[in-house]
Amino acid sequence: MIQPLIHYGLHFGLPLLVALLFFGKQWLKAYGIMLLGLIIDLDHLLANPMFQPNRCSINFHPLHSYYAIAIYLGLLIPKKTRIFAIGLIIHIIADATDCALM
Ligand SMILES: [Zn+2]
Repeated sequence: MIQPLIHYGLHFGLPLLVALLFFGKQWLKAYGIMLLGLIIDLDHLLANPMFQPNRCSINFHPLHSYYAIAIYLGLLIPKKTRIFAIGLIIHIIADATDCALM
């Protein structure tokens, strides 16, 4: 069962890597903000069944749709929301990797 390892490795490891590489002394704060990107998995609560291990979440859940992704890209522009947006996009990349591995 390597797939959950890849999943959580990307969800938690990728933001950490980005924080360490690009945010210097501020890495911990940046990492915390990026982890907030996990919040969009709340839309799984709307799904029925709520959890299904082999379901691709991209374009299945409302906060994982292309429309939502377009909004996340837009959030990259204002400085205030940029780190959060990076977290959201990393989240989408992690979920998309899951889909590709299925
Ligand atoms: Zn997700």
